[in-house]
Amino acid sequence: MQSTMQEVSRRNFLAQTSYLGAMYAAASMIPLRALAGKLAQDPRISATPVVDKGFASVRKIGNGLYATISDTSNGLQTMCNGGFLVGNDGAMAIEGFVSAAGAAFQLEALHSISQVPIKGALDTHYHFDHSMGNAVYGAHGIPLWAHAATARRIYESYGPWQSMDKAAVTAPLEKMVASAKSETAKKHLQGDLATLGNLYDMVNAAQLALPNHSFDPAKLPHKVELGGVTAVIEHYPGHSGTDMIVRVPDQNVVYTGDLFFNGYFPITFDEQATISGWRATLKTFASWDKDTLFVPGHGQLCGQEGIAMFRSTFDDIEEQAMKLHKSGVPVDEAQHQYVIPEKFSKLAVFTWGFSIGPTIQKMYVDWDKKK
Ligand SMILES: [Zn+2]
Repeated sequence: MQSTMQEVSRRNFLAQTSYLGAMYAAASMIPLRALAGKLAQDPRISATPVVDKGFASVRKIGNGLYATISDTSNGLQTMCNGGFLVGNDGAMAIEGFVSAAGAAFQLEALHSISQVPIKGALDTHYHFDHSMGNAVYGAHGIPLWAHAATARRIYESYGPWQSMDKAAVTAPLEKMVASAKSETAKKHLQGDLATLGNLYDMVNAAQLALPNHSFDPAKLPHKVELGGVTAVIEHYPGHSGTDMIVRVPDQNVVYTGDLFFNGYFPITFDEQATISGWRATLKTFASWDKDTLFVPGHGQLCGQEGIAMFRSTFDDIEEQAMKLHKSGVPVDEAQHQYVIPEKFSKLAVFTWGFSIGPTIQKMYVDWDKKK
């Protein structure tokens, strides 16, 4: 019985890892953009960062609010964005990042600003680039907060790698490359494969640490009182099935986790990512105050214009994919046939098999269900 369970979770795991790999190398080539003109003037955002290490900088973005913004072209210690909130009585940190060095960097920045007790550190979701540095919080006795399913999904997704050879991890994707049906498909898959080994090293180097304080999504929102700073933890569907955001409503600041990527196509590979759910979530984000400041999971700080751009990528993929669907192009071909229009030429694609490919696949599944 136990071996069957292990087999099943290993198979799921391999299916996921065929996509996971690509993020590493592709993301590392994308330099962080400067703050857009309007935000450079935003009184909430300090002109000088608290600290800037190249791979990430920490900036004050409100009363007791700080954002950690990664620049992956200068190193992958953090990889995702995060931040922390500091009140008179306590603080909270956001994200475990991709490595212990990344989490330690943010913790040090927090300690340089305040010595108030840290009530918790939140993983916005289970993905490796938000959780592999978790052990740093554990070592400092800081409770690790997350969605109720996050601990299990970290364990099931990344645990097996600790006892697998790299060759075994890359084999399924190598097979897919060998049997690719078109040159475009082959190119996309090679892009994914080229980076899988690097990702294996990254996850394998980490000491997995699981959240020890879980939030039941049915019981959210959860208010966090830090003394003069009040945050709200909420759950929304879309990116990973474990997604949490941190809102500071009275300052119109939102830490979105990966429910929002600024300057990227959406990353939808996760088995629990839903296109309709995600688009509904973004509609909600768009309904918030026009001066809302967003700290995205990846990419530069931005306002509502970033959300509008991100939403329009879903619209455009849908428009092209629907034409393919209507003319009977099968999904395994259609997923490689999206053409990036000029208006999105500055957007980054982490890798095809992580973002545009699965978006089209999931749209097809939704349309076929309605038939
Ligand atoms: Zn993610």
